[in-house]
Amino acid sequence: MILPKFKYHQPNTLDEALSITKDCDGDFDFIAGGTDVLPNYKNRLNYRSNVISLTGIKELHEISESIIGSLRTLVDLEKSPILKEKYPVISQAAHLIATPLLREAGTVGGNILLDTRCWFFNQSYLWRQSKGFCLKADGDVCLVVPQKEICYATYSGDLAPVFMVLDATFHLAGPDGHRDVHSSKFFTHDGITRNVKLPQEILSHISLPKKSQTLKAGYKKLRVRDSMDYPVMGTAVSLRMSKQTIKELGIAVTGTGTTPFLFDEITNHHIGDQLTGELIEHISHEIMEQVIPYRTVHFSPQYRKAMVGVFLQRILTELSPPSS
Ligand code: SF4
Repeated sequence: MILPKFKYHQPNTLDEALSITKDCDGDFDFIAGGTDVLPNYKNRLNYRSNVISLTGIKELHEISESIIGSLRTLVDLEKSPILKEKYPVISQAAHLIATPLLREAGTVGGNILLDTRCWFFNQSYLWRQSKGFCLKADGDVCLVVPQKEICYATYSGDLAPVFMVLDATFHLAGPDGHRDVHSSKFFTHDGITRNVKLPQEILSHISLPKKSQTLKAGYKKLRVRDSMDYPVMGTAVSLRMSKQTIKELGIAVTGTGTTPFLFDEITNHHIGDQLTGELIEHISHEIMEQVIPYRTVHFSPQYRKAMVGVFLQRILTELSPPSS
């Protein structure tokens, strides 16, 4: 498939990129690795006349034990000695994204800001035309949950749930200055707007608190082909224990709804509990009961929901200290 025509901009600084947006009258997209934006453009999905590349902006490439610039590639995350030592779960999750070739191009910012997915959206123009367009592109009604207000397409980024359980903050740069949003407050329940970032804002970097370096953490994902696919369900867990007692517990789920979700109300309730096999089963079941997947991607909602419980049990068991 052929890309539509657009004007390509290559700014070298954040200020330059933000100033270009002012001349585009809202008709632009930012692009980094292009692994999500360009396939959507080929399918004529909400394409714009201006594409602003962020790859030349040096300040977006920083990486340290507390900062990850949004333009760092997924391979950088996978192979970074600092991340492998301080936050091995980030490297582990990055390694599970797509294929080696796509990880060379795809960026951490792109993965966080990934567009939502749906059977009725990620299709060619002709396919969508024959079925009837939907609310997210060219139409005015949702074909999954028929109504005209909200899109129920599925968020399928792998890194957001990991950042949530590591207590990360996302940093945005815009024409009116900078602002910080905690990862658990960043996403919004609508497959079209998706998050609180304004169109003219740029996700500059992700910051991680030092205390998260001492958490034990794990991530597992369910997908059709283990060698390349998006998660149709993914679970991230972080845990701090004192002997058999839970001191901190974070659980986030992706790939089941319009946003990744951090279940802090449930997990906070278990601080101070003894982490037995029965409690692991109980927590996994409690979280699974909260998850309501929609029929928007591969595998049935019922199967994806059931697998939330299975994956959580597996990760929590792996992270548990051996009983004395
Ligand atoms: Fe379209 Fe509805 Fe699917 Fe959203 S959930 S992409 S509006 S069919």
